[in-house]
Amino acid sequence: MKVSQTYVTPTSNFKLQTLNSKKLLFIDRDGCLIEEPLPSRQIDSYDKLRFLPGALYALARLVRETDYTLVMVTNQDGMGTPAFPEDTFWPAHNLMMHTLESVGVTFKNVHIDRSYAHENLPTRKPGIGMLTEYLSGDYDLANSYVIGDRLTDAQLAQNLGARAILVLNAEAEKLEPGMYDPAKSAAPIEKVAHSWYEVYEHLRLPQRRVHHRRKTKETDIEITLNLDGTGKYDIKTGLAFFDHMLEQLARHGGLDLDLVTRGDLHIDEHHTIEDTALALGEAFSLALADKRGMARYGSYNPSAEFLLPMDDALARAAIDFGGRNWLIWEAEFEREKIGDMPTEMFFHFFKSFTDTARCNLNLRVEGKNEHHKIESLFKAFARAINMAVKRDPENLELPSTKGIL
Ligand SMILES: [Mg+2]
Repeated sequence: MKVSQTYVTPTSNFKLQTLNSKKLLFIDRDGCLIEEPLPSRQIDSYDKLRFLPGALYALARLVRETDYTLVMVTNQDGMGTPAFPEDTFWPAHNLMMHTLESVGVTFKNVHIDRSYAHENLPTRKPGIGMLTEYLSGDYDLANSYVIGDRLTDAQLAQNLGARAILVLNAEAEKLEPGMYDPAKSAAPIEKVAHSWYEVYEHLRLPQRRVHHRRKTKETDIEITLNLDGTGKYDIKTGLAFFDHMLEQLARHGGLDLDLVTRGDLHIDEHHTIEDTALALGEAFSLALADKRGMARYGSYNPSAEFLLPMDDALARAAIDFGGRNWLIWEAEFEREKIGDMPTEMFFHFFKSFTDTARCNLNLRVEGKNEHHKIESLFKAFARAINMAVKRDPENLELPSTKGIL
């Protein structure tokens, strides 16, 4: 059997791997790094200078633990005019820069545009007129970020070909509706952060997203998997009940999963289910290429088994992404099919998954209703995965004494 595979390995910003990269963080000032006082919006005296909670701590750690270069980009409407004299701007700004430096946070450049919105100058965010030096090709803009609180910051990211992190500013949205609400953004926002620690976590633990294709003469499967997703899915295998089970995996596993299987259903369901499981396991294996900081084990109750009730049924699941495959299966089904899925293929699905994901999986279920039994098993399986793939940014050690996983 000829198997072709294409995949994108997950990006990672672990310091060891990216010493040569030139990734930038374009950081907004007012409302993001420091509070934007209302109604004047001008930080024109020392007493108006307040850092956002956790901003200094998060930036100090990002500077120490990652290799991003920092650039500040800010609009200061009318700065240098009588409406906002320079001598009221610089003292507080300089104190801010000095405070950042005191915790090791230095900026390669600080870009300040002084125009008003109605002037429509290309230098004013979201315009990139001040930032042309970063377009030379020397920088990895695709893996750089704009961090800001306004939707214009997300637009700036798009204009630069970079990614956007929005630091949520719910108070400002109440005063200027539509300027800060991520739901109203025309430009993509990769992460909505509710705190600076979330910004830190997001940059320290890059999303484990893979695209994987597995093609044989029997099936053609395409998968996009994000282990750090939110439970979104788009699944089409041609088997409605199987789709329903895989949707449980995505939703309860907290995974984003797009999966299309074009299988030889004119023969029967076997290859479609088996190969989807193999491809899915391969996608997990690829997404888990770097297991540092990962929990590794997943069970609902760490001291016993993962228990998931569903009416009359009780499913138990435990998983270890330890690099070896094993399946314990204690589940009996009397019906031949549930929906359009043969019950004999349930075991085969999980067995095939463990073979390519290289995990140990322990599954048991008891109950009367066969639909409840298999659905509770998939949900328990998903919850165990959700727990096992979680990472702790405070402990990025490999969860093994062997030194390899
Ligand atoms: Mg701002």
